[in-house]
Amino acid sequence: VKVEDKLFQNRYKVDEGNPHVCIAPHTVPSEVLKTLVKVCPAGCYQMSEDGKVEVMPDGCMECGTCRVLTAESGELDWNYPRGGYGIQFKFG
Ligand code: SF4
Repeated sequence: VKVEDKLFQNRYKVDEGNPHVCIAPHTVPSEVLKTLVKVCPAGCYQMSEDGKVEVMPDGCMECGTCRVLTAESGELDWNYPRGGYGIQFKFG
C-alpha cells in the first residue's frame, strides 16, 4: 500500500470559524513563510495572488513542521484543534 493511499484514509473534522493555525499579518512574506508552502505535507500553505502566504489548515496532520520552523520568528499562532476536531488518523 502506498503512503498516499494510507493518508487518504485519514479523516478531518473542521472546526468552522476557529482555525488552529493563523499567520501573522504581513505584506511581504519572510523566507520562512515561503518555505512553509513547500514543506507542509498536507499542502495547507499557498501563495495568494497578492504575494502573501495564506494557510488553510483543513487537512493539517499536526506534524508540527510549521510550528518548529516559525518558533523563533513567531509568525504563526499554532494550537492543537479543540477536542473532537482536526485530524483523525486511521493508521498510527
Ligand atoms: Fe502542515 Fe504540519 Fe503545519 Fe499542519 S502542522 S499545517 S500538516 S506543516
